[in-house]
Amino acid sequence: MVKDAEDPEFACRPGCGACCIAPSITTPIPGMPNGKPAGVPCVQLDENYQCRLFGSPERPTVCEAFSAEPMICGEDREEAIRILEDLEQHCSLG
Ligand code: SF4
Repeated sequence: MVKDAEDPEFACRPGCGACCIAPSITTPIPGMPNGKPAGVPCVQLDENYQCRLFGSPERPTVCEAFSAEPMICGEDREEAIRILEDLEQHCSLG
């Protein structure tokens, strides 16, 4: 269930990974020195859709700065991907 935007407990949805697939990333990622195109899963995304670099200083700054929030994450993973694809077409996320 998506919580209110003001809710400090709003957390990343387990098994999602939408923000590591849908947007392009223009800065280097370990294993992807030129960043990644939109729609391509990051090589650091594991089989459980979790970041292998979480908590590591190697994790890109853009990823550290991005946090889960209801307006982007939507009600489910499919909605998150749609929202992120739409944002990708209209503005650069990273
Ligand atoms: S480095 Fe981690 S947080 Fe950033 S896009 Fe890749 S998997 Fe996602």
